[in-house]
Amino acid sequence: MPDIFDAIVVGAGPSGLMTAGILGGRGASVLVLEKNNEAGKKILMTGRGRCNITQAESDIHKLIKAYGVNGRFLFSCFTRYSPQDVMHFFEGRGITLKVEDKGRVFPVSDHARDVVSVLKQCLHDNHVQVLYNAIVQHITTGSENSITVHLKDKRTYTTKNIVIATGGMSYPATGSTGDGLAFARELGHTIVSPIPALVPIKIRESWAKQMPGLSLKNVELIALYGGKKIAGGIGEMLFTHTGISGPLVLDMSKYIISALRNGEVSLRLNLMPDLSPAQMDDYIQKNFKKYTNKQFKNMLLDLLPRMLVSIIIAVSGIDGDKPVHSVTRAERLLLQKLLQHIPMTAIGDLGYHAAIVTSGGVSLKEVDPKTMQSKIHDHLYFVGEVLDIDGPTGGYNLQVAWSTGSAAGTAIKW
Ligand SMILES: Cc1cc2nc3c(=O)[nH]c(=O)nc-3n(C[C@H](O)[C@H](O)[C@H](O)COP(=O)(O)OP(=O)(O)OC[C@H]3O[C@@H](n4cnc5c(N)ncnc54)[C@H](O)[C@@H]3O)c2cc1C
Repeated sequence: MPDIFDAIVVGAGPSGLMTAGILGGRGASVLVLEKNNEAGKKILMTGRGRCNITQAESDIHKLIKAYGVNGRFLFSCFTRYSPQDVMHFFEGRGITLKVEDKGRVFPVSDHARDVVSVLKQCLHDNHVQVLYNAIVQHITTGSENSITVHLKDKRTYTTKNIVIATGGMSYPATGSTGDGLAFARELGHTIVSPIPALVPIKIRESWAKQMPGLSLKNVELIALYGGKKIAGGIGEMLFTHTGISGPLVLDMSKYIISALRNGEVSLRLNLMPDLSPAQMDDYIQKNFKKYTNKQFKNMLLDLLPRMLVSIIIAVSGIDGDKPVHSVTRAERLLLQKLLQHIPMTAIGDLGYHAAIVTSGGVSLKEVDPKTMQSKIHDHLYFVGEVLDIDGPTGGYNLQVAWSTGSAAGTAIKW
């Protein structure tokens, strides 16, 4: 082991592994310090064990738009290391990839473990040393070109460059407990307050918790705070024991959570967003004619998922047993409104234990977007989710890890 490493990378998640592999390939002496007894623990959970490694969007402008205002920070590193480069990287190392709906890229094997194996092999090939069960507790900057890393067990290592790749605070059991945010703060960086993102939302209404497992495709959800729309989209959502989840809800969650800090957030669910109110009225009238002598609830059973029928009946107050021909005009209009406007109230979220990513982190204003180097300390770098950047579901967050890792791995000098 050298007295002083060219670079130490804290964290063997995707961003740290990418940084270390590139640095090693360039001939640097690199040490990776990982608190777990294995690398890429979180990668193994990604995409439900299948690892959605990136997003097959080739237009960088469209890609960065998905990250909201902070997306601009990614322009440089995405241009130099794009999703296509990520795909070449893994395919060049024997992982055949496939593109599923909405541009989500997975290994054909459907095994996240293959992704971890490639990254570990890359470290091995490039002579990168990895120390497991190594919990970094402090980082101190000394004279020019000398940074000391202190482990919990009192061991210390010295390095010319330090890369913080410790992730955010989501799924803390994987090792991401926000340590990097504390290091950054100690080293003088501003931290944008973290909140859980891509997280299921708790709902006040008890009816919403009575159909766990019910999945609705192609529905529209709109979130309103103070009567103003704060988020919305069309997609797939899922009812749970505590409220709602699914890609549509996860992608809206950080906006809902931010607004919840100030007050109540109302949600509107539209089960048939493709129909205008007039078309909806027409659709219902046709079905009223078709099912005129059937019980109202039986008509609904033909139109909606079974679990939803009793909910619609309960929320509307329309007697489910009465024949369709005796449903009044006012009740019909109420049904129409309800199908396109089911009200719910968001009351919270399931927290970091269930959040796929953390929103917030090291302020981007203090990091060079080309190199990921701190603007406060030379030789200090931040990569991956520890940065104040997060994207929607669909491979966007791992792309941040790969591209920021590549930027630092390519830029660091020793
Ligand atoms: C269930 C789940 C599914 C996901 N699915 C996808 C998906 O399919 N596609 C996608 O794009 N994104 C997905 N994500 C998000 C993605 O996994 C993360 O954005 C990504 O892993 C962040 O990479 P990272 O390297 O920045 O940090 P992490 O992956 O969090 O890795 C950080 C590493 O640092 C280590 N560490 C932390 N503190 C210390 C310390 N003090 N000392 C030493 N080591 C330390 C940790 O143990 C950990 O190994 C998913 C996340 C979750 C939780």
